[in-house]
Amino acid sequence: MKNLSFHGKKVLVRVDFNVPLDANHRITDDTRMRAALPTIRMILDQGGAVILMSHLGRPLKKKRPDGTLDVEAFTLRHLVEHLMEITRASVHFADDCIGTTAASAAQALLPGEILLLENTRFHEGEEKGDPAMAKALASLGDIYINDAFGTAHRAHASTAIIASYFPPENRAFGLLMDAELANAARTMDHPERPLVAIVGGAKVSDKILLLENLLEKVDGLIVGGGMAYTFIKAQGGSIGQSLVEDDLLDLARQLIEKARAKHVRFLLPPDSLIADRFAPDAETRIVPTAEIPDGWMGLDIGPEAIASFRAMILEARTILWNGPMGVFEMPAFATGTLQVAQALAEATAGGAFSLVGGGDSVTAVNQMGLADQVSFVSTGGGAMLELLEGKTLPGVAAIRDQDLPAKD
Ligand code: AMP
Repeated sequence: MKNLSFHGKKVLVRVDFNVPLDANHRITDDTRMRAALPTIRMILDQGGAVILMSHLGRPLKKKRPDGTLDVEAFTLRHLVEHLMEITRASVHFADDCIGTTAASAAQALLPGEILLLENTRFHEGEEKGDPAMAKALASLGDIYINDAFGTAHRAHASTAIIASYFPPENRAFGLLMDAELANAARTMDHPERPLVAIVGGAKVSDKILLLENLLEKVDGLIVGGGMAYTFIKAQGGSIGQSLVEDDLLDLARQLIEKARAKHVRFLLPPDSLIADRFAPDAETRIVPTAEIPDGWMGLDIGPEAIASFRAMILEARTILWNGPMGVFEMPAFATGTLQVAQALAEATAGGAFSLVGGGDSVTAVNQMGLADQVSFVSTGGGAMLELLEGKTLPGVAAIRDQDLPAKD
């Protein structure tokens, strides 16, 4: 979008304003709204008018018992006041994102003003990627900017299909989306080496594609968290009652084999902090990960694991972190995750590039107050995961594909 001129233009911007609201419809975390501010500001400052599209929640899945839309629960009107405060611009609201209301509000919009359109997901066409809805939205503006990285993995009307109604020179990524894509590419496509990835979280099954893609690219791979126990069991270890996916033992062995064949240094936690039950006040011990007694479960990595993971992280020039090392929601099992976050911060201070993205590790670095000590924290959970899996995101392809002509 840095190459476009917005003066006198009506600019349709897809943002991700899917913010959490409390029972009184007050915003409890405005991170996503603030993340879109640089893009909005840039357009307004150049003398353009901004028309914002977003979804909020899943209104079609959560209809009232009589089958009607629960407008009060899902209306974007709840965001208007806050949007005025953080943009210090005049904000109008259209209570439908398409149709005559939206069209006349868009027409009346002046340079420097914002029009917020009602929840795109009030229409079935949004999630179905309906071309008619995309065309109706497209008719509201001269330029299309996609800054909704969090929904870029969906081929919805307002996130992808709409782009084809604009010629390539009138469609672009917003600043947030651009940063997300550039940082993912810096990590996965042209990293400074060594490149080390740390993958954790609960399940191997959620991360199969990620692990497979990482093994093609990384120099070192660290696996911690609940998913490590499937790998330990696959190698013949005793894991007690730790999380395990027995149907993935073969796959785990194949991944270990692939790492060996590709000369990727592959680390599993040599020791674990185990507990006699899944509770914050459980009795705990530290044991070798492959020797967990029956009745006990691994809920965090142990001190040896922390030391070996730390050493690999500090040798890296590029680091990717996805998924916690233990049940970090309980303070008793948060040490491993905290120590990995700290190692990342130290490596970053020493000049390495670090990206945290695609899952609960984002929550963890935020919770630990270390978000500003790593190079980049992604705002898009599922979208970042798919990008790291090597997939092409529909919202990205729709903007980039130069061969995609503009439809009438
Ligand atoms: P994910 O969404 O896949 O990144 O998984 C995150 C979840 O994994 C968090 O809620 C953690 O509590 C959980 N988790 C991490 N390590 C373990 C473990 N050793 N046992 C059980 N759950 C875990």
